[in-house]
Amino acid sequence: MRTALYPGSFDPVTNGHLDIIERAAKLFDRVIVAISKNPGKNPVFSIEEREEMLQEVLKPYNNIEVDLFYGLTVDYAKSQGAQAIIRGLRAISDFENELMMALTNKKLTNSLETIFLMTRAEYSFISSSAVKEVACFGGCVKGMVPPEVEKRIHNKPVCP
Ligand code: ADP
Repeated sequence: MRTALYPGSFDPVTNGHLDIIERAAKLFDRVIVAISKNPGKNPVFSIEEREEMLQEVLKPYNNIEVDLFYGLTVDYAKSQGAQAIIRGLRAISDFENELMMALTNKKLTNSLETIFLMTRAEYSFISSSAVKEVACFGGCVKGMVPPEVEKRIHNKPVCP
């Protein structure tokens, strides 16, 4: 069985993330969407809320799981028997950081591959932070996030 891990913050999950997840699920037998519990970022949605939103949105797919992890991505990937880490690329600005991460992970665990999927043009401008900024000023986030997230975001203090 070929397993891939898609790690991230998902604060909140966007249609850009969803597109990457759906495409990865066609390439692998099993995809684990893994929310990082590592400190560092100041999330707007709690880890439980982020997990709940992902569970709701991904309910229709039987080869996609949602989980939380703490620590090194490569250690969690190995514990799940994953062969690959999936990451999405939007622009050159993503590349530098993603390359550094992929090379570090390769150094830590040679048997794991990082696979990059290019964003779809219509999602290339979407990021969790842009969604929060639009919502902060009362803008409409329809089409940027799944309806499950849209419903919740307007009840959240998303402004920095
Ligand atoms: P992280 O905090 O690890 O960057 P994110 O939740 O922001 O976590 O993103 C997880 C992954 O999804 C990253 O590889 C990121 O580049 C990718 N990603 C985010 N938004 C998009 C998008 N609109 N299209 C394609 N990939 C995306």
